[in-house]
Amino acid sequence: IFDVSKPWLNRVIERKEKAYLAAVSDVSFGIEENSVYALVGESGSGKSTIGKMIVGLLSPSSGSVEINGVDLMREMDKVKVDTVRSDIQMIFQDPYASLNPRWKVRNIIAEPVAARGGDTKGLAEKLLEQVGLSAGDADRFPHEFSGGQRQRICIARALASGPKIIVCDEPTSALDVSVQAQVLNLMSDLRDELGLTYLFISHDLTVVQHMADKIGVLYLGRLVEEAPRETLFANPKHPYTQMLFDAAPRMDSFGREIPPPQGEIPDAINPPSGCAFHPRCPMATEVCRREIPALRDISGARVACHLAE
Ligand code: SF4
Ligand code: MG
Repeated sequence: IFDVSKPWLNRVIERKEKAYLAAVSDVSFGIEENSVYALVGESGSGKSTIGKMIVGLLSPSSGSVEINGVDLMREMDKVKVDTVRSDIQMIFQDPYASLNPRWKVRNIIAEPVAARGGDTKGLAEKLLEQVGLSAGDADRFPHEFSGGQRQRICIARALASGPKIIVCDEPTSALDVSVQAQVLNLMSDLRDELGLTYLFISHDLTVVQHMADKIGVLYLGRLVEEAPRETLFANPKHPYTQMLFDAAPRMDSFGREIPPPQGEIPDAINPPSGCAFHPRCPMATEVCRREIPALRDISGARVACHLAE
């Protein structure tokens, strides 16, 4: 868990809170141990809100977050809750804003362990090597590193306390495309080596394509489709998931990204009636405006669409 008494981290969290806090309803999903579950959706879909609830930075008004049978919302034994919470870490999008610029990398990485009175001797060096940097980097400062290297430092810090679960909120979105793949590969390798479980939050289906085992697609605070990766990529069933696949970026003659032709994204706090996707859905019918579609099992996936078969 990040220490929210740290002022620079507070800034990160406050900024994210304002920009990304969204209503979430009826979202229910499970993550298997040692697997990668990706939550995908546009900004405002509620994916960061869900991530923050899981690490305990936000509390849901109802519902529960259960880890290995411990309900973090209802468990009264505080020691039990703290023990489970200490198994969860979070990695944020902006690797620079979440590193204290005045601290040496050694102290940044060892801090979560030092704060609990643990042994930090040789820890930063070991973790730096584990994330593909070198032991000598421990005595340098964050500004001396590239964006990808800084995200590696954030990963090393998240690993310091030996977590089992890591919530990764857009961990590569701030990085160059060429560097993204390297960081994603590192995260995949660490999952295998350390038996980690990831909740991977992203706005981009192609980013999660190689590493996710299961993918949940969120739209305005609701899960609209969930399927194993292969199933989702082979046969996306919800019109919104299909739109996400069609929205792969195109470039104009100056190499600038042309925004995909999509309707306005409505507000999750006041979503449209019925299926919240109906104002943007090419297949919408009368029933779509009236009734919220339930998530149904359809050939190996869960889909919330009146017309999906
Ligand atoms: Fe489109 Fe209707 Fe399905 Fe919603 S329920 S995705 S509006 S077809
Ligand atoms: Mg977000």
